[in-house]
Order: sequence, then C-alpha cells, then structure tokens
Amino acid sequence: MTSTNPSASSFSKRLDGKVAIITGGASGIGAAAVRLFYENGAKVVIADIQDDLGQAIASKLGENGCYIHCDVSKEDEVINLVDSAVAKFGQLDIMYNNAGIVDGFFSGILETSKPDLERLLSVNVVGSFLGAKHAARVMIPRRNGCILFTASACVNLAGFSSHAYSITKHGIAGLAKNLSAELGQYGIRVNSVSPFAVATPICGGNSTQEEIERSNAFVNGVANLKGKTLTPEDVAQAALYLASDEAGYVSGLNLVVDGGFTVVNPSMV
Ligand code: NAD
Repeated sequence: MTSTNPSASSFSKRLDGKVAIITGGASGIGAAAVRLFYENGAKVVIADIQDDLGQAIASKLGENGCYIHCDVSKEDEVINLVDSAVAKFGQLDIMYNNAGIVDGFFSGILETSKPDLERLLSVNVVGSFLGAKHAARVMIPRRNGCILFTASACVNLAGFSSHAYSITKHGIAGLAKNLSAELGQYGIRVNSVSPFAVATPICGGNSTQEEIERSNAFVNGVANLKGKTLTPEDVAQAALYLASDEAGYVSGLNLVVDGGFTVVNPSMV
C-alpha cells in the first residue's frame, strides 16, 4: 500500500508484530487508522458493514490485512470477528472500537425520538461494549492487550451534538474508564480518543441537505489550531500513540483531539 504519511518512514514501526481490529475501518477516522497502523507494522483486520469499501482497502494491505463484515451491534457477528482475527493472525493485541453513527445534528430533545436514541445506543454503545467484551475474552488469558474507543469531544463540551449522540459518547467514555479499572490487573490498557468535528462521511450520513451545509459550515468554522481543521489522520495519530508501547503505562485516559478548542475561553474566539 502506498504510504499516505510522509513521516512514517522516519519512525520505527511502532506496532510491529501486533494484530489490530479496527471497527468502522472502511471510512473516515477508522480508514485513516487502518492506514497508519498498517504503515507502522501491524496486521490489520478491517471490520465494517460497507463491504465494498472495506474490501477495497484490505486489498491494498496484502497478507497483512483483511476485511470482515461485522455489524458491531450484533453479538454473533462480533464473536465471529474476534475469533476469525485470532484464527487468521494468531492473536489479538489491539481492539479499536471506532464504528459509530449519528442522528440529526444539533437536534433538540423534542426532535429526538425513542427509536432514534435506541438506534444510536445499539451501534455506538452496545457495539463498543460487545467489541470490548469479546476482545477482553481473548486478551485476558494472554495477560496483554489494548482496547481503544472513539468517543467525542462532546463528552467535554455541551451544545454541539444531538442529545442521543452525546448520551452514547458519554456511555463510551464511561465504559472505557470503568474497563481500565477492571482490566489493568490483566495487563490490558483501555483508553479513548475524543475528536472534535472532523469532515468525514458521518457528517453527511442520514442528514438533510440543510444539516449537511450546517455541519460543513460548522466544521470549517472551527479551524482552531493555527487555522488548521482537524483531519481523520490527526485522530488516527492519537489512536496510534495509545495503541503503541510508547503508551505502555497509559490507561483510563480520554485523549481529547481538538486543537485546544474545548478549553478555549469563548471571549478569545
Ligand atoms: P464515518 O462515517 O466515516 O465512519 C464510520 C464507519 O462506521 C463507517 O465506515 C460505517 O460504515 C461504520 N459503521 C456504522 N455502523 C456500523 C455498524 N453497525 N457496524 C460496523 N460498522 C459500522 O465517520 P467517522 O467520523 O470516521 O466516525 C468514526 C467514529 O468517530 C465514530 O464513532 C464517530 O462517532 C466518531 N467521531 C466522529 C467525529 C466527526 O466529527 N467526524 C467527531 C467525534 C467522534
């Protein structure tokens, strides 16, 4: 696969010998993590429901990657994902629970339906829970492993996501924190990354044209670090750090990737 990261060759391979599963790996942040983990020596299993996209990415990874269809909200499919990854590559070192969905942007409580909330819970929270649970099942006997999640900066800052989405991301951050307390005794580190707004297909999925335009204007309007807008690669770099041995004593961390946006004094903006 052609390197998309010009600096990759100047680093040692930070994930050499490791096997990673990345859910939601067919697009956006997950696809950036697939590229970066692969470039850093990992064998990568892409899990998603967008089969054509996932297979196209996997075909560029040769023997060091594969695609497995997995709807993370379905436990039998998550069990198959984890067991197939171990059967193919012999072990599982990194489980990156990144797959996620949104409902309408900025929707208020009166516009939030119970089915919408349940749909988001089933993918974002139940999916993350199942991925972590079945990864832990194979990591605990090895007394080693790393479990990652993609939460969101909405865990730190109110008012820029829907209630349903915010509920699910708080759930993921809570799960990550709680799991780190339980799994540390087995040498398993658990962390989350919390990106601010990134222009990925999730911003347009299931949205009206007005919401897409609002979302794009929002993402473009929050370039916050030296005028730079957050990219999927920026988020994947944070995940790479947490997955690598360089973060060998880092667990229970929610690493916010927002260029400082959530701590900026509003009067300075
Ligand atoms: P994306 O839409 O590009 O990627 C999400 C991927 O998840 C897609 O490939 C999609 O097919 C997959 N997916 C959806 N439902 C699934 C399911 N049931 N089973 C398996 N895979 C499924 O969006 P993204 O921005 O790369 O999102 C990745 C993660 O980052 C999500 O958890 C999202 O909530 C989070 N996040 C995104 C932003 C942002 O602004 N883009 C900000 C904060 C957090």
